[in-house]
Amino acid sequence: MSYIPAELIRKKRRGESHDQNEIDFLIRGYTQEQIPDAQMSAWLMAVCFQGMTASETAWLTEAMMNSGEVLDFSSLPVCAVDKHSTGGVGDKTSLIVAPLVAAAGVPVPMMAGRGLGHTGGTLDKLESIAGFNVRLSLEQFKNQVQQIGTAIIGQTKSICPADLKLYSLRDVTGTVDSIPLICASIMSKKLAEGVGGLVLDVKYGSGAFMKDLAQAKKLAEGLVQIGHLRGRKVIAVLTDMNQPMGRFAGNACEVQECLDILSGEDQKFANRALYEDTREVSLQLSSHMLVVAGVEKDLSLARKKCDHLLQSGAALKKFYALCKAQGAQEGWKLAQAANEKTILSSTSGFVNSFDVEAIGMAGIELGAGRRQVKDTLDFSAGIEFFKKIGDPIEKGQPLYRIFANAKNGFEEAEKRLVQATKISTTAPKTNPLIAAIVTPTGGHDVH
Ligand code: URA
Repeated sequence: MSYIPAELIRKKRRGESHDQNEIDFLIRGYTQEQIPDAQMSAWLMAVCFQGMTASETAWLTEAMMNSGEVLDFSSLPVCAVDKHSTGGVGDKTSLIVAPLVAAAGVPVPMMAGRGLGHTGGTLDKLESIAGFNVRLSLEQFKNQVQQIGTAIIGQTKSICPADLKLYSLRDVTGTVDSIPLICASIMSKKLAEGVGGLVLDVKYGSGAFMKDLAQAKKLAEGLVQIGHLRGRKVIAVLTDMNQPMGRFAGNACEVQECLDILSGEDQKFANRALYEDTREVSLQLSSHMLVVAGVEKDLSLARKKCDHLLQSGAALKKFYALCKAQGAQEGWKLAQAANEKTILSSTSGFVNSFDVEAIGMAGIELGAGRRQVKDTLDFSAGIEFFKKIGDPIEKGQPLYRIFANAKNGFEEAEKRLVQATKISTTAPKTNPLIAAIVTPTGGHDVH
């Protein structure tokens, strides 16, 4: 069926709903370069203002999923499960979750992303391991999942090409933060990956795309419904991103933080409290994955198993197996920055709040993230955090340590970090790490 694109744009602009054929036409036309960027941008902006019904969002997801190859891991003896985070600063849980869950015998085929805006990306972190290859062919990806239980790769041109094109267009036309567009973008990729189950880490707060919990819940409900309608077992965990996660944000330094947790070394450190959120969220997401895969009956049994796999070193062993399978050099070491600077607190009080997006931008100033797609990263660059919200602090005590090979971003990064940090005279209320769980039948708040 053929349509006139301008008519469909006007239809959405007036707030009317599309049928499935119209959405198929738009996505096919754009992917095959019959509809130009200008018309697609206008339609995306109309969607941002007018929204989409649940059926339209489901059709958009399906059209995007079917724009490329669709994998199928359903022949594996255990249900394959992936985890997807909507993104944050210092969010490194994939590096712990994938090997831990694979060590429990659950296949984890993971298609991950690069840093986006102020948020970091799993692929960039993994590439800070010398030789690690995130560009496996789909055949190699499938074989590795069968052989060692997990593989982590970047999105290929053959999976969801519609999302590859649409995502770059949304990035430059101010049309990223629309719930139906985010739902279709994430779920089309996850459905094309061929997993039977999915655990979503939907972040809210100053470092997330969704700044408040109510919006994040709406996004989580949309994502879960789409997965459920397509026969997948899906659950979303709403996690706090009002402070950076863990001890570090960067690339090599985040891999080091994961190694510290996987090896249990973090438990011996005086500053182990700084690792607690990374460790706890990773364990909770992993536990949900075991339940979704059907290998554990309930969350408390799953948690016991995950704790054991972490403590016994099985998850660490699987992480090294993953690195080896994807080409990491024998005896790889993580890059260390040539320069560093510690930023001290100028007042005493309690850490009240962080502007986490600004902290992510400070990471970009240091070279840990990109300003433009073609930028190369300094894998050694990053930020160490010394305090969490609610911690007391004295004037002159360290708040941050910044590090990079080149010093030229230090001044701007320091300025951003200082502005991003509020110290108050009284202790603030702190948020729970996990605010709520969303399931296809509802879910609940976590107190
Ligand atoms: N992550 C995605 O993959 N797509 C979006 O639209 C937002 C976050």
